[in-house]
Amino acid sequence: MNRRQFINLMISLLLITVMAFTSGCDTKSAADTTHPSTEPTTTVESLPYVKNVILLIGDGMGLAHIDAARLYYAGREGLLNMQQMPVTGFITSYSANNLITDSAAAGTALSTGFKTNNDIVAMSPDGKTYTTIAEACQKEGLSIGIVTTTSILDATPAAFSSHAMARGSSIEIAQGFLKNKFNVVLGGGANAYKPLITKANELGYKVALTEEEMDEADCEYLMGLFNASNMTGTGVNEPTIAEMTKKAIEILGKDEDGFFLMVEGGLIDKGSHAQDPIYTLPQTLAFDEAVKTAVDFAALDENTLVIVTADHETGDAYIGKGNMDGKEFGYFFGIKDHSGVSLPVFAYGPESEAFMGFYDNTDIPKKIAALLGIEKFPFILESEPVAEGTTSETAAETSVAN
Ligand SMILES: [Zn+2]
Repeated sequence: MNRRQFINLMISLLLITVMAFTSGCDTKSAADTTHPSTEPTTTVESLPYVKNVILLIGDGMGLAHIDAARLYYAGREGLLNMQQMPVTGFITSYSANNLITDSAAAGTALSTGFKTNNDIVAMSPDGKTYTTIAEACQKEGLSIGIVTTTSILDATPAAFSSHAMARGSSIEIAQGFLKNKFNVVLGGGANAYKPLITKANELGYKVALTEEEMDEADCEYLMGLFNASNMTGTGVNEPTIAEMTKKAIEILGKDEDGFFLMVEGGLIDKGSHAQDPIYTLPQTLAFDEAVKTAVDFAALDENTLVIVTADHETGDAYIGKGNMDGKEFGYFFGIKDHSGVSLPVFAYGPESEAFMGFYDNTDIPKKIAALLGIEKFPFILESEPVAEGTTSETAAETSVAN
């Protein structure tokens, strides 16, 4: 019996107890005829528990990225949506072989609960397959969604769906998506994925190539590929990250068993590599809008846990100078690559206190698994060897360092 089944059983037992208790009270209150109309009625509401999990990852998003967007869009006294979430924490970001992680190793840590070397996707440095939290949730009967503004074959989404010794192995990564058949996969990467779209159709996916097609889709399996490569993140001729998140929740939310959804704001990183604040600011805001979509759903649903974090910081971003009112400030980047600083965590919903404090990035999926009652996690699939000939040379399409 997992935690959710246990909670359901406890609620049932509680109901029976209360029913027995109230019938006892009826006998007693029958003698007390002074206030028959004000007799309190006992109602039992089910206790909020973790049924659904939405994990939002701002790729390359450190504290300075968040603060710059806060100052620019909300003002000195204002807060972004993620900053209004009640629980905050911090995670480390180093990988198994480098103090400075890349998105493959960081995505692996956030999805599998294991450190690995840079460039490796959800596998150990010696080639063993790590089960991802998305795969573990799927095994428990939850519906699964992956949303990103990059190509769906990019390192972060790949780390939740696929297993590869090199992040550039896009064919192997695409095959991982098909093998797992997650319910909702939305992002860019139509070019790299093209040979496999037919296969996706055969598997029962509705494939949407435009925002309109996504909006109209009423199905259990939806694959949206809105750009040849990465999306633009502007919402022009493509859905915004918030709109993709909303659609994913709409489909996944129908599953009585719950869902796991990973949403990546992947372009914050791209803008930071380019040391471009004008590009990076709206990407951070767009990601924050997706956070709002998730939290708004969780507030109504009550059984949804929302976690916001990052895989690493990019650009050693800082706020170097500014006016006292915060309306004018300098948003600078010190380097063109990732830095090794710790990363913020924000959480909302049932059991969100579990994400307080300072801990390792590998603890994130472990905490999620524990709260969902998944016992076999983290988990290494010893018996599944790496397929021969699936190295980085199989596809150079997505080999851009991220
Ligand atoms: Zn990067």
